Amino acid sequence: MNQIYMDSAATTPTDHRVVEAMLPCFGEVYGNPSSLHAFGQEAQAAVEGARKRIASFLGAETAEIVFTSGGTESDNLAIKGVAYANRKKGDHIITSAIEHHAVLETCRFLEQEGFRVTTLPVDGDGLIDPAAVAGAITDKTILISVMHANNEIGTIQFIAEIGAIAKKRRVCFHTDAVQTFGHLPFTVDELNCDLLSASGHKLYGPKGIGLLYIRKGTRLVPSMHGGEQENGRRSSTLNVPGIVGFGKAVELAEVSLAEEAARLTAMRDRFIRGAFDRLDGIRLNGHPTRRLPNNINISLTSVEGEGLILSLDMLGIAASTGSACSSSSMEASHVLTAIGLPKAFAHGSLRFSLGRHTRESDIDTVLETLPQVVGRLRSLSPRSL
Ligand code: PLP
Repeated sequence: MNQIYMDSAATTPTDHRVVEAMLPCFGEVYGNPSSLHAFGQEAQAAVEGARKRIASFLGAETAEIVFTSGGTESDNLAIKGVAYANRKKGDHIITSAIEHHAVLETCRFLEQEGFRVTTLPVDGDGLIDPAAVAGAITDKTILISVMHANNEIGTIQFIAEIGAIAKKRRVCFHTDAVQTFGHLPFTVDELNCDLLSASGHKLYGPKGIGLLYIRKGTRLVPSMHGGEQENGRRSSTLNVPGIVGFGKAVELAEVSLAEEAARLTAMRDRFIRGAFDRLDGIRLNGHPTRRLPNNINISLTSVEGEGLILSLDMLGIAASTGSACSSSSMEASHVLTAIGLPKAFAHGSLRFSLGRHTRESDIDTVLETLPQVVGRLRSLSPRSL
């Protein structure tokens, strides 16, 4: 069976050129970068080469890049780090209702620690109003955390505008760019951010490696103690193969970014048009144009997301659902709830996320298969009665 992977927002395959770049770091360049001998210094040079490439891609200085284990750790380090470092200055954090759980749960944790969190709503397309961010800032606000693009519905926020507001009001600004890093062109100065999270496995790099960009002068309390790596901001022996792979993934992304974004956008829009032509009881979730080039998120009436995913999987098509099964009731995700997804659509949400490997013929296959699967499930569904 020909398999079609349309879940690139969850993770991407590691590019073979990334694997090739990483291989020497296991058996040959295996020194600890903190060691003073030649083995260590060779590993250190490999790490610094990757750091330089990544920093340059972001328009940052090398000292502003801290390697972590992934997006989740970067979000935790940014938010807890800034909160604890500024405790004397203020106790207020602003975020949005559609952030990844790595941000939302960290904010929830900080609420238990005595911080106050304002969670801003989004409009029907998933956009946060920059004026609402400005209106929420008080003299006790120490951090604003708003994601660059949403992982479920693909909506791209007005990050530069929000960053400009934060800058003007002298509030630290963090953005989770896990879904955009290596996929959309930007520098940290263009986004006006002080902190930015990214993760290797979303751009054809290895899993277990990420980064936090920390603008020079930003105060941050480290989460981990016990070593002086990364200038004391993230202890633990550096993941040399992961960092080298991450660097290679960025190098590859940089070369093809504009072309790939245009190719994916065209396929995305053809997919959406095709789905609307072939299906009734369908809606698009997320902004129609301010959305990730690879993201298609649709909801369907009279059908359940889980059933759709399993049926598509049996036919070799991998997608994901925006509904989570909680006990006996199916509930829409916090993101779909935040955009006010109508009740009739709440159960049947699907996310298809395209990637470097996606071909036009894959879109044709899915457009052919999806109506058949939906039709069959609808004919069996008590919801359609
Ligand atoms: N933030 C966003 C927006 C994501 O999409 C993800 C992963 O799905 C994460 C954070 C977590 O990244 P990681 O899997 O590298 O911990």
